[in-house]
Amino acid sequence: MYSTITPNIPQNALRLCQGCGMAVQHLKLENKQNAYCPRCSTQLYRGARHSFSGDIALAISALMLFIPVIIYPFLSIRLVGEVIPATVLDGVRLLNDEGYLFVAILVLLCGFLVPLLHCSCVLMANFALKTTNFPLMRWSMFGVHHLKHWMMIDVYIVSIVICCIKLRDYSDLIFGIGIPILVVLQFVCLILVMRVSPRRYWKKWDRQTQTLRQQPLNIEQGIADCPHCHLPQNTGSRCQRCNSSLTQNDSRSIQATWALIIVAALALIPANVIPISILYANGARIEDTIFSGVISLVNSDMVAIAIVIFVASIVVPVAKILGILYLLLCIHFKRTVYHRQRMMLFYIVKWIGKWSMVDIFVMAIMLTLVDRGQILNFTPGYGAVAFGVVVVFTMFAAETLDSKLIWKNYSNKNEK
Ligand SMILES: [Zn+2]
Ligand SMILES: [Zn+2]
Repeated sequence: MYSTITPNIPQNALRLCQGCGMAVQHLKLENKQNAYCPRCSTQLYRGARHSFSGDIALAISALMLFIPVIIYPFLSIRLVGEVIPATVLDGVRLLNDEGYLFVAILVLLCGFLVPLLHCSCVLMANFALKTTNFPLMRWSMFGVHHLKHWMMIDVYIVSIVICCIKLRDYSDLIFGIGIPILVVLQFVCLILVMRVSPRRYWKKWDRQTQTLRQQPLNIEQGIADCPHCHLPQNTGSRCQRCNSSLTQNDSRSIQATWALIIVAALALIPANVIPISILYANGARIEDTIFSGVISLVNSDMVAIAIVIFVASIVVPVAKILGILYLLLCIHFKRTVYHRQRMMLFYIVKWIGKWSMVDIFVMAIMLTLVDRGQILNFTPGYGAVAFGVVVVFTMFAAETLDSKLIWKNYSNKNEK
């Protein structure tokens, strides 16, 4: 659907791939056809024509669903005759009470606030389009673009399932109305993330404000892709549409990624050595590191959960750190082959990152349900803080690394 570029192309007929920076010429597309970059396979164009009113309806529905999510418990347990309910915010409050403010903020942000903010940004963007309010438009598009990787309602739902299986031997579980609401909320948020693209909103902005003057693109002198609104334009210091800086600082992106990945690798040591959870069951104190937790799950015949926790908490963080290190080293040593495979690795690393949060969410839920100082008592260990640092820093590292750097030494001749 896309062809490689011809000289003297008008600005609105060109697109620069967000993944590898390749310039491709826009050809006529049928409705519901998608177009992908011929070099790195990043999706360039989504064929489905979504309405803005549909986005507003979905965002409002999601925001309304947050109210019952706060009020109603998703799970209760019956322990020595007492029914203990758990809502999403209970775990956050109890983590804070136990002195784990950092972990509490992480759970609050990823499980609740970020999805809420994302939906609010969609509404604000539509309001900005109506009122042609440029600062509001810019900030809401910034939110839409950056928040989506930190929305983790799906990870939270998986964590609830794990807690149910872990606790079923100790007590009676009562499922609350919060669970179906969370599932519906996840579904609505997912559709919203798939529909809303900053490019589509900025195009509507152009039509609405009529402020963007189309300029012919001078291919010989180089064209730049605005990192904020993705408008292809002649190289300059500021974007002609959103006024963002166009100067790409490659060495800053590489240095920041190195720094973040080194901190994450160092934090991996205490995260695996110091206990992450302490459970008092029938008078016995059981301290568990991530690995010993996996072993005790296997010993309790919960092999499926043991595999999930092992993959999410040990394999994923290590694989992410090694993957980003490999990409950084390939950029440093100017590797000239296997760009496509490295790009795939980059996308995998970006996607798997959030699933490491499973263990943190499980901890927050367990704390809400089991911290009662009677037959069962649960408290987090300091390993949880180090593990939180690993999750956050590996995710930031994947965000900071500019994927276009992977394609720096690309030439058609040497690709395998
Ligand atoms: Zn590409
Ligand atoms: Zn821009």
